[in-house]
Amino acid sequence: MTVILGLEGTAWNLSAALVSEERVLSEMESTYEPKYGGIHPREAAQHHAAELKEVVSRALKGAEEKEAGFSLQDIDAIAFSQGPGMGPCLRTVATAARALALSLKIPLIGVNHCIAHIEIGRWRCGAKDPVVLYVSGANSQVLAYRAGRYRVLGETLDIGIGNALDKFARYLGLSHPGGPKIEERASRSTTYLHMPYVVKGMDLSFSGLTTAAKEAIEAHPDEQDAVCYSFQETAFAMLTEVTERAMAHCGNDELLLAGGVGANRRLQQMLRTMCEDRSGTFYVPENRFLKDNGSMIAYLGLLMLKSGVTTPLELSRVKPNYRPDEVEVTWRPEP
Ligand code: AMP
Ligand code: MG
Repeated sequence: MTVILGLEGTAWNLSAALVSEERVLSEMESTYEPKYGGIHPREAAQHHAAELKEVVSRALKGAEEKEAGFSLQDIDAIAFSQGPGMGPCLRTVATAARALALSLKIPLIGVNHCIAHIEIGRWRCGAKDPVVLYVSGANSQVLAYRAGRYRVLGETLDIGIGNALDKFARYLGLSHPGGPKIEERASRSTTYLHMPYVVKGMDLSFSGLTTAAKEAIEAHPDEQDAVCYSFQETAFAMLTEVTERAMAHCGNDELLLAGGVGANRRLQQMLRTMCEDRSGTFYVPENRFLKDNGSMIAYLGLLMLKSGVTTPLELSRVKPNYRPDEVEVTWRPEP
């Protein structure tokens, strides 16, 4: 049995997990909560630095309880999120990962956070070669695997859909994270107000939508639920359109949803309907594997280690703008 310790801390959630081939042995987390406004990168990094020892110890203890005889010496490698993410957060977690790998004398594996979302989704759902819609705070991308890489077929040209929702929620005086609160309000309305629908080829833009939603609130202060509803309907229709086109281009009937915004029931419903209309299959993992989590980092670390890939110290510098298509995929046979 190979066991990997995975460390995730690209933004506000710090998480450590131990994963083997068959299962997640344990996972623990600690979440930074901004006192007001959005995520402050330096404050989030300080949170991670203060909590790291405790979160890792709890993860180890969890594995010991689950697996009789498990100890620190059973860990085969340390995987960490090398990017994309917030520089200060990434650096804090990478420093801890290097220290652990050096002291335990085991390999270090820098993983791409976005690909970790994809691979844990494929694992948990049993999807073979899906088109992927990855929607999180900072990212919104449609991807598919071709010839050794996850290719980005379409993406946001400005902010991620999660950030767009969070910004609008903040304007409404709602605390971070705003996505679930907007979802709740949207579910109370079916009144559609016009919103800018911006799809350019395979790419999307969300910042105009946030502005338009703020203006709609100024014009109709009593229609918050209708504005939330219209915001979601527009943004999710844009995402569904681009995703469907990617599936058609690739001749691919499987869709995997990944990332924190994937928890949204309305988005799931739209994508499921689209897949059903094409006689395709829609996959979405449990919420705990949609949001940022240490298990996905450990799991991708495991796949990489088994395919012979580790990260020498001198190449372990963090990559805040790390793109998924930079990564050579060594663990997947050609479909
Ligand atoms: P991640 O960056 O993957 O950790 O995802 C965090 C983002 O997901 C934040 O922008 C949240 O507002 C958003 N989010 C979480 N749950 C929901 C939901 N139910 N609906 C919409 N957005 C959500
Ligand atoms: Mg993420």
